Amino acid sequence: MKLSIELGIVTATLYLLAVVSPISAQQGPYDPEARLAELGIQLPEPPNPVANYVNGVQTGNLIFLAGKGPRRPDGTEIHGKLGAGLTIEEGYEAARLTAINQMAVLKAMLGDLSRVVRVVKVLGMVNSAPDFVDQPAVINGFSDLIVEVFGERGKHARAAVGMATLPRGQAVEIELVVEVEPEMVVEVEPEMDPRPAPGNEPLELTYFGTAGWRISDGNVVILVDPYLSRLNYGEGGHPDDDRPAFSRDDLAWSDTTLIDSHITEADFILCTHAHFDHLGDVPYIARKTGAKVIGHETTTAILRAYGIPDEQLFTVKGGEDYQFEDFSVRVVPGLHSALEEKHYFDSRRYDQSTGLQAPLRINQFIEGGSLNFLARFQHHSVLAMGSMNFIEREFQGLEPDVLLAGINGSRLGIYDFDRRLLTSTGFPPVVLPAHWDNFRYPYGFSQEENFEQNVVPFVEAAQVLSPGSTVITPLHLETIRIR
Ligand SMILES: [Zn+2]
Repeated sequence: MKLSIELGIVTATLYLLAVVSPISAQQGPYDPEARLAELGIQLPEPPNPVANYVNGVQTGNLIFLAGKGPRRPDGTEIHGKLGAGLTIEEGYEAARLTAINQMAVLKAMLGDLSRVVRVVKVLGMVNSAPDFVDQPAVINGFSDLIVEVFGERGKHARAAVGMATLPRGQAVEIELVVEVEPEMVVEVEPEMDPRPAPGNEPLELTYFGTAGWRISDGNVVILVDPYLSRLNYGEGGHPDDDRPAFSRDDLAWSDTTLIDSHITEADFILCTHAHFDHLGDVPYIARKTGAKVIGHETTTAILRAYGIPDEQLFTVKGGEDYQFEDFSVRVVPGLHSALEEKHYFDSRRYDQSTGLQAPLRINQFIEGGSLNFLARFQHHSVLAMGSMNFIEREFQGLEPDVLLAGINGSRLGIYDFDRRLLTSTGFPPVVLPAHWDNFRYPYGFSQEENFEQNVVPFVEAAQVLSPGSTVITPLHLETIRIR
């Protein structure tokens, strides 16, 4: 299926249905097709089945490939019997040629060989004279090439057996079973639909603006930095915004009517840091929903000041990996954006002994350190960033399916941000750029300027750096579904 991503202005409605080929990089990018090119191997057109059967059948994540033989691109085959005319070397070459033919079938079925997760099982049949016993040495021609191309993922269980004869007198016939990445379907719809039928529930991600998200797989509802009030505070408000203006010394305030219209339930709230545009609405949302809040000590100290009971608060420092009933979360140590031309630094922290009194002033919502979260749902993992910075080593090996990337302009103060981000996260199949908007503008105001400044360059860069990723820009209150 052809994938098209439209970069409309923010008021446009996006509808997208795409089949995504996930890339899971191991050490260095996993790219079997590049490996084939290095080996100078060009895959032929896959040979047609010679009777009433198909080249391969996929069931679930497994593909069962029909037996194939050493057919050359010109249609001729390597014929003969091992131990009665053909040498082991000739048999090895026949098995290697068969591997090329089977990879051609896989390529035709998958579109991209990087979707191969594991070569599971190989049955190698060798046309053998009665006293020939070196079938494994022959089928090694198949196995060696498969491992050369797919690396660790190519290592398979195998049987290599002798046959009295094979169709048309071909030297070998080999079949195999391969595990592949599931296809992911990504949809973007302007509004949330009622719950889909149970059993086939997609992961739903709704963007609240800034770094705020609602994520649910139908079992559990997670909020990340849910900030909806979008107060006109400090500088940078919109001249047409006729809501009250707040200074940073003013008492914090949440637009509870607005929040109530968008948030009715939550099981967990993940808080990356305690700045007001991330944590400002969490006291109200935590009390309203009873959600468990996971954040650093400054975050939980603020919530405690607002009377959120200790049972709801999970204080973390980064590095924790917690299993809950339907969901697990790894707390990933992070860094805050390099604000003020990299002069920003705030070492202040709150703890249980800090005498905080709610309501706090807006400027009492201090950073308190920065975290990211790898949230694992039943079928997908999501790496949520709260800011335009990260510790590369902490992201390596996480390999999320979905990256919620912080991408506003302050990322340009970070060395090679886009490439390091996409590389260290293993070129995620789905990338959703966030924190690109002006969070002082209420919902419904045009964000075109920030879209042009932040989103367009990031998306262009990401398409070059990680062509296998589907990059979708979430608009305010839109829901993206991933199957
Ligand atoms: Zn911040």
